[in-house]
Amino acid sequence: YDRYYSSPYSRPHPPESPTSSQIYAKDKLSDQIVELFEACRQQPSDLARKEMCRSRLQQDINRVYAVARLYLTGSSMNELGCRSSDADLCLVIQGKCEQSCFTPSQSKRFKYVTMYIEKTQLIRAKVPILRFREKGSNLEFDLNVNNTVGIRNTFLLRAYSYADQRIKPMILVVKKWARHHQINDASKGTLSSYTLVLMVLNYLQTRKEPVIPSLQMDYPECFNPFVDVDLVPEGPKRIPPYISRNQAPLGELLLGFLEYYAIHFRWDKYVISVREAQVLPKTNSQQWKNKYICVEEPFERNNVARAVHEKAKFDAIRAQFAESFHILKQRRDLNSILPIRDII
Ligand code: ATP
Ligand code: MG
Repeated sequence: YDRYYSSPYSRPHPPESPTSSQIYAKDKLSDQIVELFEACRQQPSDLARKEMCRSRLQQDINRVYAVARLYLTGSSMNELGCRSSDADLCLVIQGKCEQSCFTPSQSKRFKYVTMYIEKTQLIRAKVPILRFREKGSNLEFDLNVNNTVGIRNTFLLRAYSYADQRIKPMILVVKKWARHHQINDASKGTLSSYTLVLMVLNYLQTRKEPVIPSLQMDYPECFNPFVDVDLVPEGPKRIPPYISRNQAPLGELLLGFLEYYAIHFRWDKYVISVREAQVLPKTNSQQWKNKYICVEEPFERNNVARAVHEKAKFDAIRAQFAESFHILKQRRDLNSILPIRDII
């Protein structure tokens, strides 16, 4: 794990990281998106704090499981996080417990492994999660065991975040918009942040002039799903930025994203595939059949949007896309769909 964190790719803001003047801010709406991004993006100090907690936890866990390794994943590591984002952790324990398991008795014991955490709570999702806080602070952690696909897809998303300088602000504004309109909570039957990120990436991949390609297709050696997870963080450094002929400003991309999912995308017919940079026809297989929203996990190829299983929630999500699209098209002001001052 030392190598993991000393990798140049675990540094929070490499030199090529864009500044506001370099990002495509040519109009009021694009400027507002950049302003929101600069104010909300995770800071190096935020990551340093998460990394300090991770390393203390790792030491305590190693007293019980000598060879276990603890990885920071999710938006803390993929460059798509906000100052307020939680920290996702994956505990990799080889041997006895190869599956992504977290039994109630394990979770109870976990409290006694370390004195650095409080308010632990077991969340019995498909991949069980132990949620806790750093003692005395508001920093929240979501820990899973052996769900190593999360390590692979974190570094895939990280590579996308560097593929074009519009990706990070675009994803941040969409996450904030979805949260503000209460359609960003998988535990309540709406979209997880991870699903939203894949939806944005696929929108950008499927333009007539794509903003980004499929990195898994273009650089298969960097995203080999069988490579040891320990080596995963080393991969993306070989990927140069993508030079797209589509240089649409951020405001236009945000409007286009809302329009695409409000009007053009056929939810009943297609699967959103970032892996192939396309939409794929829905087959009759179990994972797509009778599902309102189909978004393919780029490595495991299952449906990351399976939480949306109620028609009413699906309708509410689509209605929000449509309403925001029509308002933003008329007003061209981010405040009309997301009150920037309250969010910042
Ligand atoms: P936020 O900033 O809102 O916390 P996030 O980018 O961390 O957003 P989450 O939805 O919290 O996104 O997911 C955290 C990480 O967990 C993802 O980056 C991904 O690595 C992993 N993950 C989440 N859902 C799935 C899933 N269905 N299949 C595989 N991995 C997943
Ligand atoms: Mg997260």
